[in-house]
Amino acid sequence: MTQPAEPEFQQAYDELFFTLKESTLFSKHPEYERLVEVVSIPERIIQFRVTWEDDAGKLQVNRGYRVQFNSALGPYKGGLRFHPSVNLSVLKFLGYEQIFKNALTGLNIGGGKGGADFDPKGKSDSEIRRFCYAFMLELSRHIGQDTDVPAGDIGVGGREIGFMFGAYKAYRNSWEGVLTGKGLTWGGSLIRPEATGFGLVYYVEKMIQYASQGKESFEGKRVAISGSGNVAQYAALKVIELGGVVVSLSDSRGAIVATGEQGITAAHIETIGQIKLERKQLSSIADIFDANSFKYIDGARPWVHCGKVDVALPSATQNEVSGEEAKFLIDAGCKFIAEGSNMGSTLEAINVFESERLNNSNAIWYAPGKAANCGGVAVSALEMAQNSQRINWTSEEVDQKLKDIMVNCFNTCVETAVAYSSEKSEGLPSLVKGANIAGFVKVARAM
Ligand code: GLU
Repeated sequence: MTQPAEPEFQQAYDELFFTLKESTLFSKHPEYERLVEVVSIPERIIQFRVTWEDDAGKLQVNRGYRVQFNSALGPYKGGLRFHPSVNLSVLKFLGYEQIFKNALTGLNIGGGKGGADFDPKGKSDSEIRRFCYAFMLELSRHIGQDTDVPAGDIGVGGREIGFMFGAYKAYRNSWEGVLTGKGLTWGGSLIRPEATGFGLVYYVEKMIQYASQGKESFEGKRVAISGSGNVAQYAALKVIELGGVVVSLSDSRGAIVATGEQGITAAHIETIGQIKLERKQLSSIADIFDANSFKYIDGARPWVHCGKVDVALPSATQNEVSGEEAKFLIDAGCKFIAEGSNMGSTLEAINVFESERLNNSNAIWYAPGKAANCGGVAVSALEMAQNSQRINWTSEEVDQKLKDIMVNCFNTCVETAVAYSSEKSEGLPSLVKGANIAGFVKVARAM
């Protein structure tokens, strides 16, 4: 199904296909095996050149993309990523995951993803604005509120959405809810910035309740989080609100980890939010953390450095947990792993979690990103609904809908895993299988 040299997409495809194959899905519905092949080829891919001028007046060029993967359930929906690592393999994997994630929200949105190999780090606001306008010059021909509705992802936050929305409106002379993650005064939804992180924590809250038959919660749990962007910040804030102890955050250069009982505070996170807007690294504020309780580790990911861990929330980028780190987390006492990032775990790490689940019936709950982080895109769909109705819901209304969506998503994953399980051993339900099968079946039926 993959083209040569598409390792990330191959990985996402393999993960989906093997879980479907291992279940009873194809024996119950033989016609679906062929449909996996159909669903794995994007309906359309748009690739384009983006030329822009830097502050020195020098000509710059980047590659822009939009993968319109599947529109069976609704308009293509998914973020735009601006990062030097962006290429077609990365965007195909993200678009592929997005199809099934969006299906798991229960809302009517198809799957897509786009972006550019543009690096926002070290760029001025004017350079970013010029890049966004140049990017939209081409992308605006291919999207629309009922066709394809992009949003943010790594490197694309509220500011970039604003620049691109302004560009679309100017080029097309049309105010449309064509992008989500907009500012509140011009069509955005309350709770959209918080939605991925909050949704992740609501999903895990349900996981903990289910696993402990209502006896446990986040209260007192040590929670390791990677990343320090939008997802990690709001996940951390919600964990703190629910009484958990956040023992780590990180970025591409290093990790900050708690060395004792004391966790990262809401005030720390506020400072992190500010420096991220200035595109600075965590290392530049390592001194806001009390040296008696925290250490900054250059070049490290947090997983093997946090001591005892109850919950791990990878929330940085793809393949950020290796097989070795997965084993380490289990030895550190971690029982709940849920991805705020897309494909945060390598296939080796997933195998470690899944075999632990099978071999020890009181063990590990691992939730893949397509289930655990679907809250972000779900609230994007709620933003689209509000735009269509020309009204705004209150934050309580949106937050309640988000909670319901995450709880439904968890229940769907569990029920589907049980319904299609072919495992002999009576292990816990596999959320990976449940998510993949439920997402796939919904799209397959629609197709
Ligand atoms: N980039 C986010 C994701 O991976 C959000 C996409 C959206 O809101 O459309 O799901």
